[in-house]
Amino acid sequence: MKIICIGQNYREHIMELGSKVPEKPVFFCKPDTALLIRNRPFYIPDFSQELHYETELVLRICKVGKNIAPKFAPDYYDAYTLGFDFTARDIQRHCRQEGLPWEICKAFDNSAAIGQFIPKAEFPQGPDQLHFEMKKNGETCQKGNTADMIFKVDEIISYVSKFFTLRTGDYIFTGTPPGVGSVKIGDKLEAFLEGTSILRCPIK
Ligand code: MG
Repeated sequence: MKIICIGQNYREHIMELGSKVPEKPVFFCKPDTALLIRNRPFYIPDFSQELHYETELVLRICKVGKNIAPKFAPDYYDAYTLGFDFTARDIQRHCRQEGLPWEICKAFDNSAAIGQFIPKAEFPQGPDQLHFEMKKNGETCQKGNTADMIFKVDEIISYVSKFFTLRTGDYIFTGTPPGVGSVKIGDKLEAFLEGTSILRCPIK
């Protein structure tokens, strides 16, 4: 399986990082070793002094597909969860300055925490009106609504599938709203999709 992550998909997050609004979806991959499941703790790696959370809607791919037209995209995912795209922000800054690949700041072990998947049928409003929230130590740090995505879910699936064959069991992180920030040992992150807690992550 593979984990595909969309970057720079919410205007206000792009502004907080001082980036440019992209004309096409920007994406990168994480290997299967990045997956962190079952609310297991995240251990801050010793190579970063500025480890950030990014809370994102995650799609589960349920069918093999290539060159998928946007109108058929809903056939290719069957469930949502929330995930943390853990990012070594200090290393990412260096990679951006030097024009280097992002793997060491984005794709390291346990950098893709995901919660419990909920069938998309349980959300009759569809993928483009989903509200989510992340609390750190009980305080709201991020609030997002997929209505604010620059590239919506169906467009993302269509675009990514031009380059990569999507397979059953792949995951797509769809980008983070504003409010990203750092974690320290002892923090407790909890993410809510439409008010339901579906991902918890103690930081160690
Ligand atoms: Mg992200």
